Amino acid sequence: MPKTIESKEQLASRFAQYSNDQGQFKKAIEAAFGGCVKRHLFLPSGRSIYTVVGSNADEFIDPEKPFCSCESYFYGVLGAKVKYCYHILSYKIADESSLVQEVRFDDEEYDTFMGLLASDVLKSRDLKK
Ligand SMILES: [Zn+2]
Repeated sequence: MPKTIESKEQLASRFAQYSNDQGQFKKAIEAAFGGCVKRHLFLPSGRSIYTVVGSNADEFIDPEKPFCSCESYFYGVLGAKVKYCYHILSYKIADESSLVQEVRFDDEEYDTFMGLLASDVLKSRDLKK
């Protein structure tokens, strides 16, 4: 649990160096502040899956790589146009501000969870076509 809750403005000024795209940066702050960054912790193994709740679907992120399942990551980041998509940015902000929402699961739920997440990610692709 965070000891001190920062205001959105404090967050924004602290992380301003992360993005030179104001629109993307604002979205990332909103997502981090709004509790959209979630850590799904599976026990007892302790493996974690991170997602960011988006406007039309949850996106799967892997902050270690970093990787995101969204289209702007695929076209923008891999195409070297931008450094991060806003989901990864929101994760970084949330992580450093103790704003990541932890949700605990049993290891037995892992396959079901991943199946649902994958279908959610794929569904959002179909909608955009
Ligand atoms: Zn993304």
